[in-house]
Amino acid sequence: MTDNLIAIYQALYAGYGDLNWWPAKTPYEVMVGAVLTQNTAWSNVEKAIANFGERLTPKFAADADTAKLAEIIRPAGFFNQKAEYLKSVTAWFAGYDYDVSAVRKQPQDKLRAELLSVKGVGQETADSLLLYAFGFPAFVVDAYTRRLCERYPIEAGKSYADIKRYFEDNLPRDAKIYNQFHAMIVINAKERCRKKPLCGDCPLRRECRKG
Ligand code: SF4
Repeated sequence: MTDNLIAIYQALYAGYGDLNWWPAKTPYEVMVGAVLTQNTAWSNVEKAIANFGERLTPKFAADADTAKLAEIIRPAGFFNQKAEYLKSVTAWFAGYDYDVSAVRKQPQDKLRAELLSVKGVGQETADSLLLYAFGFPAFVVDAYTRRLCERYPIEAGKSYADIKRYFEDNLPRDAKIYNQFHAMIVINAKERCRKKPLCGDCPLRRECRKG
């Protein structure tokens, strides 16, 4: 058995190929998606994002009142709370004039600390924003990552920080690899490594202890 992350990456890649995440037209859409996806299925996020239509811009979110925003994002659940979070993240982005290149010029650690101080942004959301909206090498740890670690197993530790560090220390520091790896973990968890796993044609079945 190996817990060599590169080998796991390669096996998943052989099964799923390039996934081109995150499915969004603009970095701001990624930001909105990262906030709305908390505690809900992605299909609900898609409905909420569709409700914005042409209004999916930071300027609109900054100017709209919170109740209006809540109405738009209603399908994503916890809409009053998430509308406030969206306002907070957008206010943080306003500090960079809504300019992605200005954000990208900042040190990653500084941005992560800033994001963690924004209302509604925990570690997973902060890393999702850094990686998927701004292209920083920040590994995202979510429930699917933890599930894979437990089942395979990958001895990455228990806490968010431990697991993140383990993946970042054992992979090339490359946003494209982190992006693709996390995307493959998610799709494998949705299609095969479910609560009740369907190991039969899982790309990891040969090396996975549970498989
Ligand atoms: S072999 Fe089964 S338990 Fe292991 S990762 Fe695949 S689906 Fe999950």
